[in-house]
Amino acid sequence: MNDFFVNNKKTKDISELRQDPVGRDWVVISTGRAKRPEAFKSSGTPERETPINLCPFENPKEHGNEVIKTYPLADGSGWAVQVVKNKFPIMEGQNCRAESKEGLYLVKDNAGYHEVVVFKDHRRSLAQLEVAEAGQIIKVYRERYLELSQKMCVDYILIFHNHGRPSGASISHPHSQIMALSFIPADVRRSLEGSRKYKEERGRCVHCDILEWELKEKKRIIFENKSFVAVVPYVPRFSYEVRIFPKTHQSYFENISDGETVDFAEALKISLAKIYHGLNNPAYNFFIHTPPAERDHEYDYYHWHLEINPRLNIWGGFELGTGGEVIDVDPDEAAEYLRGIKT
Ligand SMILES: [Zn+2]
Ligand SMILES: [Zn+2]
Repeated sequence: MNDFFVNNKKTKDISELRQDPVGRDWVVISTGRAKRPEAFKSSGTPERETPINLCPFENPKEHGNEVIKTYPLADGSGWAVQVVKNKFPIMEGQNCRAESKEGLYLVKDNAGYHEVVVFKDHRRSLAQLEVAEAGQIIKVYRERYLELSQKMCVDYILIFHNHGRPSGASISHPHSQIMALSFIPADVRRSLEGSRKYKEERGRCVHCDILEWELKEKKRIIFENKSFVAVVPYVPRFSYEVRIFPKTHQSYFENISDGETVDFAEALKISLAKIYHGLNNPAYNFFIHTPPAERDHEYDYYHWHLEINPRLNIWGGFELGTGGEVIDVDPDEAAEYLRGIKT
């Protein structure tokens, strides 16, 4: 913990998890990151690209990043992907003692791991990569997932990617992030709970039922191959949202086979390329929803998937007050449009 000053007053960094007693959601309080250099740069500027000569990911080690693993190019001529420890981690450490009480609140350590998956090229995002290159990145996700899931205090592993400033990407050089959290995020908890209840009531996987209907209707499918399908959800949370599912029931992302990583990479790359070309390279976030890494429970009722959320609208009062966007494009039309975009 470092000391720093606000208005000449010495303050301490806080890094802890606090539980909201109403919704029971855990919130990460991590104040040290405000000191990272990007935080002081205006996020309102139109500047979208980190200048290559200032880019910390051109040579991660030289820029003081702790490299966890380097993955070489197929021809051995250099590196293709590097996994580094986040220099300004949101969560850190293996200290996950029991929760304590502060007034009526539960508080616990903000333990965990925060890694960055750095792609080789400064300007080629996933939409521009070859399927084989994207496949290598999926395998890196899987490998890191499997390794982090063995560590202490890891309840949930979130794999996500920010593209463009409005998505939260402070460095434009393409990179994904992996956070091993010592709590289960609220959105994941809701998704697990809804899937569990549906299974309990009808004896089936809700996601399999959705896919069966989508594959029959065909209206909202933008791409499919042997093992994956990309759809604009009938009930999206963002305009032009795309979700990618394994076609057969698979609960856990990390169980993806080598062959499936290629099909998954193809579905992801093509979906992102359709968004890139069709919507003029908008900002987006994508993340994988898979069950918690803690295996005290079985989550066989869940069906892992990836969600791509284009950031086309600024969230205002309605969005924040209700937790979602007004979907201003008919999902059928959004899907028809994206389906027709050549990649
Ligand atoms: Zn770069
Ligand atoms: Zn299923």
